[in-house]
Amino acid sequence: MKLLLKNGRILDPSQDLDIVGSVTIVDDQIDEVGEKVDERDADEIYDCTGMWITPGLVDLHVHLREPGFSHKETIISGTQSAAAGGYTVICCMPNTDPPLDDPALIDFILDRSASPEAGGVFVAPIGALTKGMKGEQPSNLASLKRAQIVAASDDAYPIQDAQVMMRCMELCRQLDLPVAVHCEEESLTRGASMNEGAMSAMLGLKGMPRTAEEIQVARNCMLSLETGCPLHVLHVSTWGSVEIIKQAKFLGAPVTAEVCPHHFSMTDEDMVPFDTNWKMNPPLRTQVDVDILLGALADGTIDCISTDHAPHAAYEKDRPFDEAPFGIVGLESAVGVALTYLTHKGILSPLETIRRMSTRPAEVYRLDAGTLKKGRTPVAQVTVIDPDVEWTFDVSRTFSKGKNSLYHGMKLKGKAMLTFSGGEVYRDALWAANDRVAV
Ligand SMILES: [Zn+2]
Repeated sequence: MKLLLKNGRILDPSQDLDIVGSVTIVDDQIDEVGEKVDERDADEIYDCTGMWITPGLVDLHVHLREPGFSHKETIISGTQSAAAGGYTVICCMPNTDPPLDDPALIDFILDRSASPEAGGVFVAPIGALTKGMKGEQPSNLASLKRAQIVAASDDAYPIQDAQVMMRCMELCRQLDLPVAVHCEEESLTRGASMNEGAMSAMLGLKGMPRTAEEIQVARNCMLSLETGCPLHVLHVSTWGSVEIIKQAKFLGAPVTAEVCPHHFSMTDEDMVPFDTNWKMNPPLRTQVDVDILLGALADGTIDCISTDHAPHAAYEKDRPFDEAPFGIVGLESAVGVALTYLTHKGILSPLETIRRMSTRPAEVYRLDAGTLKKGRTPVAQVTVIDPDVEWTFDVSRTFSKGKNSLYHGMKLKGKAMLTFSGGEVYRDALWAANDRVAV
């Protein structure tokens, strides 16, 4: 079986490649990438004129909710959502019920994501850093690592005790396992539901001060410097966190960082008051934070873009703002938001946009992904993106079970059109409408 993706703009940050050319996939593997390829005997030809052909996108921060919360999302619906968003590898967080602190649960996730009904994308599980995610003692990290976790985290439950954190990081350093951290000093955020500032005061809601995040970013960065443990800072939202991460990198700490689309595109002033689709943790901050986050993406202080895809059932979000759960879905809007707010605004070039959504995240967790180089991924992982299509994001048409998105009804420019993980795993309706497929 030979697939020919013809005449696209090939963007492969792993080889600093930005050319117009074609890609062939033979028997589920990348065969040729270049201005001229052997086009003979193609079984299927995709005309990619005006499109980007990129390595499959990689998301380091996804909540698949299974086991325990399959009313919010399942491994099946979550992987389908990922494929539709242009992702070929997603890393799932361990805050399920039970939490992913047992190798048998890691086996379950890997089995389920490989089943024929799933989206056809790879799921790389993240193990719980502490037993039961209770923040007291390290989980059995060595056996979790053998079960193929790619990182360890207590994402939703930030470890408050510095001594526990240090022990966990010493262990992970020995196991060469990255630790991913949601940074939040909880004594400063109890009962809070949005950013602390003029908006929270006006709405009469308790706010989360930015220092609650920054105190833990600083602590964890210093522990990374001290222990040598690779540290990945999840969903950075404040300018202070950016400055601390920059300093930690300067000092030589093995620190990486991510930002979510909502944090670089929206502020607390954009919020629809009391609409819980705008409630997430960390919360939307201010324009100064957004400006500094954009600069940090451009200069590489922030390594990558992750979605923090956090689906909830409608009835759970349909509660008073201060009682509703935190989180929004992100897999199917991320490309549109990133291109609209980064690429089309000239913040990142097309090549750098793809670097932050594919090649760099793959490097952070050392995944066999994020490249179009032949033989470097288990199967061909390729995404075709239409950078110029204008569309309106409609949550009712998404694959995720969660419909909690602040982008619902918004106009975006840029969309994933085709996703290949071996063979084709997603084809957008807009692609067919454009009559682009020749067989
Ligand atoms: Zn988090």
